[in-house]
Amino acid sequence: MYDINQVREDFPILSRKVYDKPLVYFDNAATTQKPLCVLDAMREEYLNVNANVHRGVHWMSQQATELHEQARETVRRFLNAKSTTEIVFTRGTTEGLNLVASTFADECMQEGDEVIVSTMEHHSNIVPWQLQARNKGIVLKVIPMSDDGILDMEAYKSLFTEKTRIVSVCHVSNVLGTVNPVKDIVRIAHEHGVPVMIDGAQSAPHFKVDVQDIDCDFFVFSGHKVYGPTGIGVLYGKEAWLEKLPPYQGGGEMIEHVSFEHTTFERPPLKFEAGTPDYIASHGLAVALDYVSKLGMDNIAAHEQELARYAIQRLQEIPEMKIYGKLRVEELRDENDYNRRKEGYGFDAVGKNSQLLSSNSQHSTFNSQLHDAVVSFNVGNIHHMDLGTLLDRLGIAVRTGHHCAQPLMDRLGVLGTVRASFALYNTKEEIDTLVAGIDRVRKMF
Ligand code: PMP
Repeated sequence: MYDINQVREDFPILSRKVYDKPLVYFDNAATTQKPLCVLDAMREEYLNVNANVHRGVHWMSQQATELHEQARETVRRFLNAKSTTEIVFTRGTTEGLNLVASTFADECMQEGDEVIVSTMEHHSNIVPWQLQARNKGIVLKVIPMSDDGILDMEAYKSLFTEKTRIVSVCHVSNVLGTVNPVKDIVRIAHEHGVPVMIDGAQSAPHFKVDVQDIDCDFFVFSGHKVYGPTGIGVLYGKEAWLEKLPPYQGGGEMIEHVSFEHTTFERPPLKFEAGTPDYIASHGLAVALDYVSKLGMDNIAAHEQELARYAIQRLQEIPEMKIYGKLRVEELRDENDYNRRKEGYGFDAVGKNSQLLSSNSQHSTFNSQLHDAVVSFNVGNIHHMDLGTLLDRLGIAVRTGHHCAQPLMDRLGVLGTVRASFALYNTKEEIDTLVAGIDRVRKMF
């Protein structure tokens, strides 16, 4: 484990005050704070080796290129991809999802072909497919979920037809914290010869992801949610897929040769990286990934698991508290939860986890029972916005609203929730502050 006090010193923003109250930052699912090493590295690069990458013969351009390509190797290691050619830099999860939706639909889908998504997707894994539906007449099919936020895997299996072309689902719900059984999802899709894209925006920051173990065809995440800078993200794609898909945007860097008559393209990953990449941010991301790797993803997962368990326990003490998703404390009591996550959360039908839960679960063989560092709730009749606004006045930053998952809100039958999301630097004392804050607001109403 790491020393939390020492870690907090790496994030100076955490010691600032808001409305004269110590900041409690629980909006980490939206974006995380940055350690000094990331900020220093980016400043250092601008100060000392700033030059455009890939195209210069001069020393600084070569240095900048080296940092950028080293960053690709750091990401490869972080995801355990086979090769750096499988790592495409994007602006973030949203761009990765759009890139695949657009190029995959162009290359592999025709009118009437189907994509499977789930009820708990972020808008960025719904709308890009809807744009393709509008352009190409493709059809969205949706994996239903139970009232407590677990994907119905039997229904998932029954969604496949001869027109299913791709599955695109989140690894972890940004609202419920449900960790989906992505290995099972991939295995079932592959049995039908269908590739799978995983939205890893909420998994990559919290536990070890191994794309080879999951065997997904595409995996996307955002740098800013993993303590890195904004404006940089990653698309992992199996080499064969990246070779097969057409370019997303045209411009510099992505071409091999251009003439007015005929243009040939670079091989992946450059084929998908038109224009000047955010090479300062890729370097910042690499420093952030090194930072979390040094702390240990297993240690981070264990720490956050402990926070989630504690938060659920404490929040349940509040009268009229409604927590969304399957968040039973007894399920979180197992200290080995994070070890199972380590396995890419793909433990199979006869795994320890399914046994643990088979007694109270109708889909026990596939169920995803783990919870990530996200808790969504409402309290009595207090509007989520009122609760969020009043907590803010106490220095507590939580997110309120639909969390870019309106279809999920519809399924839950609510307009919105309050969401507290945790990171490697949060503490139990901060959770106590949140609980006391909610109690104070509740008494005002
Ligand atoms: N998917 C999920 C599950 C998310 O939580 C988010 C961010 N809230 C996104 C996609 C979009 O990420 P970004 O805005 O960084 O592109």
